[in-house]
Amino acid sequence: MTEDATLPAPEGTLPDRLARAIALGGPIPVSQFMAAANAHYYATRDPLGAQGDFVTAPEISQMFGELIGLWSADLWDRAARPDAAWVELGPGRGSLAADARRAMATAGFAPPIHLVETSPALRAAQADRIPDATWHDTVDTLPDDRPLIVVANEFFDALPIRQLVRRAAADGGTWHERLVACQDTLFLPIAGKPLPPEIVAEPLRDAAPGAILEVSPPSVAIVRALARRIAAQGGALLAIDYGYEGPAIGETLQAVRGHAVANPFENPGEHDLSAHVDFATLAAAAQLSGAVAWGPIAQRDLLGSLGIDQRTSALARRNPDRADALLADRRRLMDDMGTLFRALAVTAPSWPTPAGFGE
Ligand code: SAH
Repeated sequence: MTEDATLPAPEGTLPDRLARAIALGGPIPVSQFMAAANAHYYATRDPLGAQGDFVTAPEISQMFGELIGLWSADLWDRAARPDAAWVELGPGRGSLAADARRAMATAGFAPPIHLVETSPALRAAQADRIPDATWHDTVDTLPDDRPLIVVANEFFDALPIRQLVRRAAADGGTWHERLVACQDTLFLPIAGKPLPPEIVAEPLRDAAPGAILEVSPPSVAIVRALARRIAAQGGALLAIDYGYEGPAIGETLQAVRGHAVANPFENPGEHDLSAHVDFATLAAAAQLSGAVAWGPIAQRDLLGSLGIDQRTSALARRNPDRADALLADRRRLMDDMGTLFRALAVTAPSWPTPAGFGE
């Protein structure tokens, strides 16, 4: 993964390099800190699974990827079976893509698979499961001559956010870019120079002192680029993540290591940094780019309408000794994660309503 070009030569550990960059050029925006930390984190390990730092839906159960494969194949079928490509953003270990591909094949859909992934470690894991995939560093190089059916699970939460912080009225009540400073070896957030008030949407401008507003310019840029492509070429995007309908006040930046939360400003590059996804802002970006946005809907409603109960029963009948485990997996996807995680769909105006998002 390419690390931040504004950092000094890659000598020493990431904290050393960030500390030197801050000593030389002054405190850096939270977005730059998060980008450098996550680039290092994902490039140097496979963070998923029981021994890793966190578990995702495709790692809990094969049913998750299979149902998303059926969602993709159903949409392709009702769009009159075009010569489409299937794309995943940030595919992790490649489990979702492998499970989806199997399910799509049973429905007669065998598209070429394109994976957008920057981590060499995770690309290697993906190649074990999808050896014939085509890899991309960014969405810019995806095919431009056919419809794209794009899936992103827990991808947007890993992209950098800016944090804007409000000062007390006594200090002018201004909004500031939140920066990361470094004292000895300790990284800590501070308020940078004041920003023009217009940067914050009117209803939020008078938030309480200390209020934090998060925005993710890279997420918006990726959704805009994909929505433009989808509107022009046909296709759809399904983004599943934890999030809210903003913009809204609230700090959601978090660090996870070994399934426990940590201080996001400590040990950069050694734990996963993520932030909740602002679905309303992404939906608006898609619509402004000429596509149609659907949802967000709860993960449990999406999986329910795609037939997770029937799939659980069918698998349990075939593997009676795994029936309890299958029910437990279903519970995790539907109850534990079911309302925390939500799904946003984006389609070309000429494409049908995606399964789960209709009336
Ligand atoms: N979708 C997988 C993995 C989620 S973790 C799952 O659900 O299990 C986030 C994934 O996004 C990882 O594969 C990580 O390497 C990738 N990623 C993070 N930032 C990225 C970026 N800027 N460009 C492309 N991939 C990125």
